[in-house]
Amino acid sequence: MKAVVLREFGAASNLRMESVPMPRPGRGEVLVHVRACGVCYHDVINRRGNLPRTHVPAILGHEAAGEVVEVGPDTPGWKIGDRVATLQRLSCGECALCRSGRNSLCRKDNRFFGEELPGGYAQFMVAPVAGLGRVPDNMAWEVAATACCTTGTAVHTVRTRGQVKPGETVLITGASGGVGLSAVQLAKEDGARVIAVTSSEAKVQALHEAGAAEVIVSRGLDFAAEVRRRTAGEGVNVAVEIVGSATFEQSLKSMAPGGRVVVVGNLESGVVNLNPGLVIVKELEILGAYATTLGELDEALRLTASGKIRPFVSEAMALAEAGRSHFRLENREVAGRLVLIPPEA
Ligand SMILES: [Zn+2]
Ligand SMILES: [Zn+2]
Repeated sequence: MKAVVLREFGAASNLRMESVPMPRPGRGEVLVHVRACGVCYHDVINRRGNLPRTHVPAILGHEAAGEVVEVGPDTPGWKIGDRVATLQRLSCGECALCRSGRNSLCRKDNRFFGEELPGGYAQFMVAPVAGLGRVPDNMAWEVAATACCTTGTAVHTVRTRGQVKPGETVLITGASGGVGLSAVQLAKEDGARVIAVTSSEAKVQALHEAGAAEVIVSRGLDFAAEVRRRTAGEGVNVAVEIVGSATFEQSLKSMAPGGRVVVVGNLESGVVNLNPGLVIVKELEILGAYATTLGELDEALRLTASGKIRPFVSEAMALAEAGRSHFRLENREVAGRLVLIPPEA
């Protein structure tokens, strides 16, 4: 089969299509004919060599959707033809964290597609069924592929972790990416007023269409004063921090007393200066949000199928163009999500 193999960490041009042996599903696994795989900034970070669990040669991609074409031994409940989409990572389902619903924190089985597990930049991939959600019949493959890591992550971030309530004001940085556009829509759907921050004038209209009441274009990333101005000096109740280190200080300065900062992205893998005094006097909460549970993936697919969340798949590219897709993502040329389409098997 054909797959894009990363043989050496580094530049986007290191992603090259090769012929590799067809994988076979083991116990509790299925073989999936990949029909689409989303390209996520996580993949860029992974390609650069910043994720310690990935070893080259590697097949990246944790946003795959396709059909089951082979079922491994002792894998009840799955059959050939089932339509599936991957979670980002697995969980054991049995430990104390999993039993309390915090599957994305499971340590017993934390294998991640595209890291320890070969991912979806391929015609076929083996997937443990614990990492698969079921895709509605009428949903397009590129939409199904990206639902987990965009809308599913938004459900985890805005609802599960952020506990956004009607009437609250929510600041979203990096708002014009795949997660951002879903988070804007979901926060609006849940009754919040959304202030979106983006680096590019070209992305303002998409953010208003997604439901942002205010859009701040901030190339220099000094948006806290503007947030104060647009909230009559109050600040925001929740900040969804998708950019991470580069915007964190400004987000912290944008908070109303008692605010929650939910950190879900760290694009440059950098560190931040934190003044504990600010956290103390405003009793701020700083929360992490990581990956998606199966229940959140199902909810994401429901929200998408019902039209409550509109997917922003900006372009489908051939799998062989994986390198170019990374290059475009790194150069901020993408609003929404790019997906890769493997060649017909
Ligand atoms: Zn992703
Ligand atoms: Zn577990």
